[in-house]
Amino acid sequence: MSFYENFLSETHKMFRQTAKRFALDEIRPNAHAWEEAGEFPRDLYKKAADAGILGVGFPEELGGSGGGPMAGVMVIEGLMHGGSTGVAAGLGSLGIGLPPVVQSEDERLIDEFARPALAGDKICGLAITEPNTGSDVAGVTTRAELDGDEYVVSGAKMFITSGVRADFLTTLVRTAEDKHGGLSFLVVETDREGVTLSEPLAKHGWWASDTAEIGFDEVRVPKENLVGSEGGGFVTLMRNFQNERLALAAYGVATAELAYEESMKYVKEREAFGRPIVGFQVTRHKLVDMHTRITAAKTFLYQVASRMEAGEYIVKEVSMAKNIAAELAVDVCYEAVQLHGGMGYMRESLVERLSRDARLLPIGGGTQEIMKEIIAKQMGI
Ligand SMILES: Cc1cc2nc3c(=O)[nH]c(=O)nc-3n(C[C@H](O)[C@H](O)[C@H](O)COP(=O)(O)OP(=O)(O)OC[C@H]3O[C@@H](n4cnc5c(N)ncnc54)[C@H](O)[C@@H]3O)c2cc1C
Repeated sequence: MSFYENFLSETHKMFRQTAKRFALDEIRPNAHAWEEAGEFPRDLYKKAADAGILGVGFPEELGGSGGGPMAGVMVIEGLMHGGSTGVAAGLGSLGIGLPPVVQSEDERLIDEFARPALAGDKICGLAITEPNTGSDVAGVTTRAELDGDEYVVSGAKMFITSGVRADFLTTLVRTAEDKHGGLSFLVVETDREGVTLSEPLAKHGWWASDTAEIGFDEVRVPKENLVGSEGGGFVTLMRNFQNERLALAAYGVATAELAYEESMKYVKEREAFGRPIVGFQVTRHKLVDMHTRITAAKTFLYQVASRMEAGEYIVKEVSMAKNIAAELAVDVCYEAVQLHGGMGYMRESLVERLSRDARLLPIGGGTQEIMKEIIAKQMGI
């Protein structure tokens, strides 16, 4: 047993085991076909809900699976054995879309949106990014103006995970001029008149997850769809970013581990100059570097998740964990492809896919540079 397993309870390990079993049975045999097709079957949401992993981190009384930040890390670690970050991220889009709804404690919103999403019957996305606004999230310009009992929503969102298939989007809108205090969350059902969903955007990686551009042309939404209070959107967003960034750190470490394991197998089998390529010192050193960095990053990730589970609000450490894990995944995947030689460049090899998928990690959920700005601020510089 590795020493970082000391951070885990039996329940944590059970979450990981359940997710791994699900990934090996349901995802791994289909991952290549789903990646090439650019989507996975919709009923996978239901299957994941029935397996007890879709709603990790959400209360069981709402149909969630319970568990806290560490359980979330465990489910990602398990799901990555499916070999497709796209599938895992597509299934996980409710993990970023639902928290504002659940935290609002609004019974109507919870019954109409959270429960069906946690049951795998509705697909939920989080719509923050816009064509002209990404890192500067408070620059959102999609407007929602109250007209009688309805908000009228106009604007556009960009790069929205699960956006093509989503039944509803937890959408960050501008309800007043104040840059930060003028932002609010609104649930927008995608079948409302005036909503246009793009075709899935063609991407570098994450092929099995759909990513959409979404237009809102004077979309009328009942004012009861407001999530929490008007003007409370920015604070809610910042709080929930911590869980999203922890999840991305978990994807990074799990991606690196998978690429490392694939490489270890390959270098023992593949021969060159009359011996397995693991026999070359340079190969061994690459594997040593991978293993060393994974061990350090995983220990830090587990420590951060444990502290979050204990209720600490640790913005600096979460941002560091995301950056460490994102860089780790990109670097380890690069070396994994290199160790596979020509085979590493082929679509049939897992490391080829992982290397493309990993590239999202320093970009999504707040870029590497934005994480550094946050860390600098916390350092007082
Ligand atoms: C596959 C995928 C899935 C996504 N899913 C979602 C989703 O579900 N919901 C959602 O809302 N969004 C989603 N996004 C959007 C993602 O969060 C943004 O792409 C990301 O936050 C960066 O924003 P941007 O693309 O506008 O880049 P920009 O903000 O335009 O940044 C461009 C470059 O400038 C740098 N930069 C910007 N500001 C600074 C600064 N102050 N200091 C230093 N450098 C800076 C950035 O770090 C980056 O390198 C997704 C994106 C992708 C690719």
